[in-house]
Amino acid sequence: MNGHPARPPRAGIVITGTEVLTGRVRDRNGPWLSDRLLEAGVDLAHVAIVGDRPADMHAALAFMAREGLDVVLTSGGLGPTADDLTAEVIGSFQGREMMIDAALEGRIAEILRPLAERYPNFDREAIALGNRKQATIPEGATVLEPVGTAPGLVVAPAEGSRGPTIVVLPGPPRELQPMWRQALATEAWRAAITGARVYRRRMLRLFGIPESEIAETLRHAEREGVDLAHLEITTCLRGGEIEIVTRYEPGAQDAYEAFAQIVATRHADTLYSVDGTTVDDQVAALLRGEVLASAESRGQGGARRTIAVAESCTGGLLLARLTNPPGASAYVLGGVVAYSNDVKVAQVGVERETIERHGAVSAEVAQALAGGARARLGADVGVGLTGIAGPSGGGDEKPVGLVWTCVVGPEGASLTRSARLPGARPDVRERAVTVAMHLIRRLLAGGSPEKKFRPAH
Ligand code: ATP
Ligand code: MG
Repeated sequence: MNGHPARPPRAGIVITGTEVLTGRVRDRNGPWLSDRLLEAGVDLAHVAIVGDRPADMHAALAFMAREGLDVVLTSGGLGPTADDLTAEVIGSFQGREMMIDAALEGRIAEILRPLAERYPNFDREAIALGNRKQATIPEGATVLEPVGTAPGLVVAPAEGSRGPTIVVLPGPPRELQPMWRQALATEAWRAAITGARVYRRRMLRLFGIPESEIAETLRHAEREGVDLAHLEITTCLRGGEIEIVTRYEPGAQDAYEAFAQIVATRHADTLYSVDGTTVDDQVAALLRGEVLASAESRGQGGARRTIAVAESCTGGLLLARLTNPPGASAYVLGGVVAYSNDVKVAQVGVERETIERHGAVSAEVAQALAGGARARLGADVGVGLTGIAGPSGGGDEKPVGLVWTCVVGPEGASLTRSARLPGARPDVRERAVTVAMHLIRRLLAGGSPEKKFRPAH
């Protein structure tokens, strides 16, 4: 039970699995659960990652109990094999005997039946043992019905003892996620989080602005009398983009709107998302011909537009990102990875003389790549990208990280940009794609006026 109804309930997450601990599998459950806790009005205080060792799991739980957390969520270790120990560890931690839930055992057997029929030479004895293990749960626990074969659990401390209620979830994200919704509906969960507050969370995204500018904007908002005390604002710099995440209680909605308005006014040409959408979402929507709800869109819907790319140093990453959204086939025609000069000439139609005169990494070549992609693939929009990803190949005039991108659209519309991107080769390649995505967005959204590049003759 939550002993402090005056404050929001606090939670911890324990991710189990040696494969996650060692980094062989990237943890996808911690970040996902963190978002869900926020929605549920629960403050996340700690995330621990431990291997498949009972003592380590126990120690992590003990730490969270000492911290006075109201709920702890665990992920992983619910399977049928001997290294799946979570249910047992949780039972002993909560001071509850383990018992076989016969009805649950029957339901798991039903789930396993088609599997056993499909693979008749599976060892039936072993399946039955695994089944029984998964149906062995702490006495008094609330069962969350299996999504795969493993049931989840909500386990309160034994009668008369204090401590967090523990929500036990399976490791595979596709099983954990539906089971989380079941957990929310249980009486045991509700009892554990009485007093939860509801928060709202909004995100603003900006591109092409240093983080220090945001700090200055916050000081400005304060001087303007915005009630920042009721807004929990965090800024995060990610791959050249800035995310401003604000969490607040519904009563602070006016304060948030005043703050968002100040950001919109001071950063009109770099604020591109006020509704949480990413640049990739926006490019996809614009190519589909949809209207953006973003800060600088002029609100006109349009026709669907097709796109083609010719990219060099990104080796196909731009096309990969454009084709990420489901339904991309409606507007992505394709692309050429024009890594060598010969391919730029032969496949995209860049003039060899242009490369010789200006170099492969130049505004002129980016423009020829964009124009060539558009013409050769018959697209409405063409994108060209050329740069020096490093670590070698840079010089004084053209350092590592220099990237030229160009986007050409219908009726001669065209934007060309250079950027000096920091970081190692993978960072430069990744960021170059982001720069290109923003340039595409800008051309399609027709946002703030852009200085057009004029090649010198
Ligand atoms: P199973 O019945 O599949 O064994 P389980 O609850 O015992 O389920 P684990 O054995 O801990 O789960 O993990 C099974 C697999 O699920 C892992 O090999 C991994 O691929 C995936 N997985 C587990 N934990 C995570 C995580 N935190 N993030 C992403 N994937 C995970
Ligand atoms: Mg397992």
